[in-house]
Amino acid sequence: MVTGSALGAVAAAQGIIEPTMFNAVVVIVASVLPDIDKRRSTASKKVILPIHLFFKHRGFTHSLVGGFIFLLLLSMFLKNMWVPFIVGFMAHIIPDMLTTHGIKLFWPMKVTVRFPFTCATGSIEEWMFSVMMAVVLLVNLGDALGL
Ligand SMILES: [Zn+2]
Repeated sequence: MVTGSALGAVAAAQGIIEPTMFNAVVVIVASVLPDIDKRRSTASKKVILPIHLFFKHRGFTHSLVGGFIFLLLLSMFLKNMWVPFIVGFMAHIIPDMLTTHGIKLFWPMKVTVRFPFTCATGSIEEWMFSVMMAVVLLVNLGDALGL
């Protein structure tokens, strides 16, 4: 969520998305949505359907196919949300590729995608990354809001 907020602020500061409450909500929702496949995640607590029973963690919901399907489903109800959704979704899956677990970006192919430099989930490196994203958020928030 911190990374989603930070990249959303950068996107707004750069004029890629409009700095509206709607776009902020879409970015943040898209940034937590992939973990709907994880029991007790922020996203899975908000839905009735237990997605984690049908998909392995960091599989379908963290893939390009999953992101595209989420995008199509949400766009049936919301207009003009493609760009903020993509910003938020990428803000989730790119940091997950920085972890040792990686993700199944090209699901249904079984190949795991991760960066050559990784850290463990919950490690001090991950915590430092989150702090760095909070700084990016604060630095760009003023520009994003036109202050
Ligand atoms: Zn994830």
